Amino acid sequence: MTLPRILFLSLGGTITMVPDAGGGITPQLGAAELVASIPELARVAQIEARSPMRLPSPSLSLENLVNVAAEVEQAFRQGFDAAVVIQGTDTIEESAFLLDLLVGGDKPVVVTGAMRGADAPGADGPANLLAAARIAASPDAHGQGVLVTLNYDIHSARFVQKMHTTHPSAFESPLTGPLGVIAEGRARFYTRVTRMPCHPVALGPPPPVPLIKIAMGTQGRLLAALPDLGYQGVVLEGLGAGHVPAEMAPVMGEIASRIPVVLASRCTTGPVFTSTYGYPGGEIDLIKRGLIPAGFLSGLKARLLLGLALRSGPDHAKVRNAFEPYQ
Ligand code: ASP
Repeated sequence: MTLPRILFLSLGGTITMVPDAGGGITPQLGAAELVASIPELARVAQIEARSPMRLPSPSLSLENLVNVAAEVEQAFRQGFDAAVVIQGTDTIEESAFLLDLLVGGDKPVVVTGAMRGADAPGADGPANLLAAARIAASPDAHGQGVLVTLNYDIHSARFVQKMHTTHPSAFESPLTGPLGVIAEGRARFYTRVTRMPCHPVALGPPPPVPLIKIAMGTQGRLLAALPDLGYQGVVLEGLGAGHVPAEMAPVMGEIASRIPVVLASRCTTGPVFTSTYGYPGGEIDLIKRGLIPAGFLSGLKARLLLGLALRSGPDHAKVRNAFEPYQ
C-alpha cells in the first residue's frame, strides 16, 4: 500500500521548546527532529518536514499564517495529500481558523502543538504529532476544512478554543464538542462539518482589526477614536447575547456608519442574538444601528474573518455576506 504524502510544517511553539542558557524553554527544535523522534510516523505517511519558523506562537503574525496557507496550497498542487501544521498552542484557535478560511480544496490540514515542553516529563508533543498524522492520513478527514488535534481529540477549526493555561486537555469545542477522537491508533469521526466559503490567499494578509471586550460601565471613548486611528473595521465582544450599556449604543451606531462593526459575545460560547432583546443597547437596537452579528464565531475568530473581508476596503455588504454562513 502506498502511504500518503504529508507535508509537516513547523512554526515553533512549546512542542519545539527545550531549555536554553537562560533557564526558560524556547523554540529550538525543527520539524525534522520532531518527526525523527517518532518512528511510528514512518508507518503512517511519507513525510516531508519543513521548519519555516521557530517562534513562540504569540509572535506569529497574520502575514506568517497567510504565507503558510500559500505554502500548503502550493504543496497540494505539487501532489501532497495532506498537511500538518505544528505551532504554539496560545494562538492555535486563531491560526487554524485563518487557515480554514484561506486554504481551498478538500485535502486535510491538521494543526497541532503541545502543552508540555519537548523534554518535560509526560511531554504530549509526540502523541499529538502522531495523532495529527493519523488524522491527516485518514480518508474521513477530507472535505471538513482545517482540523485541530491535541489530547487525542479531533476538533473543527471554527469551533475549537483554548480553555486552560496548562492542562494537556486545554482544547475544547464548547459549542459543539469534538468531531471525533483518536483511539486504537485510528481517527474516528463521530460527526462531520462541511466546508465554509474560502477567501483567496492571493489577496494577502488582512489589515489590522481591533477586538474590544465590553465590561460593565464601559464608555464608548476608546471605540469612538477607532475610525480616526485608521482602522477599517472593529469586532466588539458585547455582554451576553450581544449587548452594550444603553449610553454606548448611539456611539456604536455612529462608528458603524463609518466602518463595519461586528458584534460578538464576551461569553465563552453561544450565538449572538438577533431578535430577542428590545432595550437600548440590546442586540435588536445595535443591529438596527448597523452592527453585523458574528453568529456563533468567538470574538477571536470573528476578527480574522472580518480582516479577510476587509482586504479590498471597508465594504459593509461584503462583510455581511462573509458572516452570513456563520449565523
Ligand atoms: N507559549 C507557547 C506558544 O504558544 C505555548 C504552547 O505552545 O503551548 O508558543
